[in-house]
Amino acid sequence: MSDPIRLSRFKRGDASRINVSFEFFPPKDEAMEKILWESIERLAPLSPNFVSVTYGAGGSTRERTHATVKRILAETPLTPAAHLTCVAATRAEIDDIVRNYHAAGVRHIVALRGDAIDGAGAAYKVHPGGYETSAELVAGIKRISSDFDVSVSAYPEKHPDSPNVDADIDMLKAKVDAGADRAITQFFFENDLYFRYLDRVRARGIDIPIVPGILPVQNFKSAKNFAERAGASVPTWLAERFHGLDDDPATRKLIAAAVAAEQVIDLVDRGVTQFHFYTMNRADLVYAICHLLGLRPAVEQAA
Ligand code: FAD
Repeated sequence: MSDPIRLSRFKRGDASRINVSFEFFPPKDEAMEKILWESIERLAPLSPNFVSVTYGAGGSTRERTHATVKRILAETPLTPAAHLTCVAATRAEIDDIVRNYHAAGVRHIVALRGDAIDGAGAAYKVHPGGYETSAELVAGIKRISSDFDVSVSAYPEKHPDSPNVDADIDMLKAKVDAGADRAITQFFFENDLYFRYLDRVRARGIDIPIVPGILPVQNFKSAKNFAERAGASVPTWLAERFHGLDDDPATRKLIAAAVAAEQVIDLVDRGVTQFHFYTMNRADLVYAICHLLGLRPAVEQAA
C-alpha cells in the first residue's frame, strides 16, 4: 500500500495553494548589484507575492534600499516591499520616506524597530523625536495611508531583547492592533519551534498570517553567526550535516538543498502554504526549493 503522506507530497503539484516571497538586501557595489539583479531575474518568473528589500542603519545603505525598491517597481512586474526601521530618524523623517514610497507606487512596507545604532546586541535607544516602537511605526504608516500592506517581524524563539516569549507575543499583539497585516518570522531550523509558537500566538487571539521565514543555508559558518546575533538556535544535527565540508562547496550545496527541502516539505505536510525566503541575494537554492514546492515559471505554466 502506498504511503498517504508521500502520495500527498507528489499530488501537491497544486502550486496554486503555495505563496512565496523573497527577501533581498541592497547591493554595496557594482559586482553585488549584478548578482542581485541576476537573482531577481531568475526568481521573478515564479510570481512571488512580493519581494522585500532590507533597510540598514546608515544613510548610504538607506539610499540603496530606496533605489533598489524603485528599480524593482520600474523594471519588473514584481510587487516590492520596502523594509523600514525606527532607527536614527525622527518621526517626520520616517513619515517623509513613507510618503515618498507611496507617491512612487510602493504599497507594502515591512515595519521594524531595528537594531541599536551600535549593532545588534547593544542596548536599543529611541531616537529623539523618533518612533518608540515598531507598533507605533505600523500605526504611523497606516495613518499616512490605509492602503499600505504592512508586514512585521515575529520571533518563534523570542527576540534577544525580550525577557520571554510572552513579552514578545505582547509586542506582536500591539503591532497587530496597530494594523499589521502579516508577520514574517525570524528563520528557524526546527519546525516544532514554529508550530509551538503559532499555537501561543493563536491562543492570544492573533489571527494574521505568521509566515515562516526560511534561510537556505548557503554557507553554514555565516548562517551560524547570523543565527547567534538573531537569537535563533542551530541544532547539533544541522552542524553535523555540514561538518567536514568547509573545502567542498559542491557537496555543501547538495546538503543545503536537502536540508531546506526537508524543512519546507515538512511544513507543507503540516499545512503551511506561505513561505518567505531569506535569499541572501542568491537564486539557485531558493529556485530549487520553490520548484520542489510545485512552483513553475509563469511562461512555462501559460504554455
Ligand atoms: P520588535 O518586534 O518591535 O521587538 C522585538 C522584541 O524586543 C519585542 O518583542 C520586545 O519584547 C523587545 N523590545 C522591543 N523594544 C524594546 C525596548 N525598547 N526595550 C526592551 N525590549 C524591547 N533589521 C534591519 O535593520 N533592517 C531590516 O530590513 C530588517 N528586516 C527584518 C525582517 C524580518 C522578517 C525580521 C524577523 C527581522 C528583521 N530585522 C531587520 C531585524 C530587526 O530589526 C531586529 O531584530 C530588531 O532588533 C528588532 O526589530 P523588530 O521590529 O523585529 O522588533
